[in-house]
Amino acid sequence: MAAICEYPNGVILKTCEPWEPSVIDPYGLQGLIADMKAVCALHKGQGLAANQIGVLKRVIIFQDNQGQMQSLVNPEILELGSETSTAMEGCLSLPGLQVKVTRPTEITVTGLTENLEPVTLVSEGLEARCIQHEIDHLNGVLIVDHQGRLNRKMTLDKWMKLRKKLDRAEMSYLNRELKRAA
Ligand SMILES: [Zn+2]
Repeated sequence: MAAICEYPNGVILKTCEPWEPSVIDPYGLQGLIADMKAVCALHKGQGLAANQIGVLKRVIIFQDNQGQMQSLVNPEILELGSETSTAMEGCLSLPGLQVKVTRPTEITVTGLTENLEPVTLVSEGLEARCIQHEIDHLNGVLIVDHQGRLNRKMTLDKWMKLRKKLDRAEMSYLNRELKRAA
């Protein structure tokens, strides 16, 4: 089973490319989504973006308000509601950390199903939060990027202590981010 890429692994800081059905991909869209669901279930996550398992494609899965895992290919937010709410969010790429994130409570999102049929969803609550979190991933944005300078520095400090294995590139990225926040 695919491993989860943890912050600040290069692939989760990158912007993903749209899924192009014409491109022959040995992975296959449905295979990718099935893999993502299996990895997410194993780690008891509420959603996952493809780049979290190293695939730089715009594919997400998220838990809907009925507790079912849904997928969305090439998702795009059409509309953000004016009302916002703040809640603690965790992330499988930052295991052990939770940070407060403020997001619009309601969104309208469009994309494709795993059979590549167009779909538009009006979503609210936890589901809307989850979809926004996963779409952030496709743009290389993580929950720490929603934090103000000081909170971000505290979170990054904590993460450096939590994460035992950092390679040289990750270490220098984190040190640079910490310096920027100081
Ligand atoms: Zn995440």
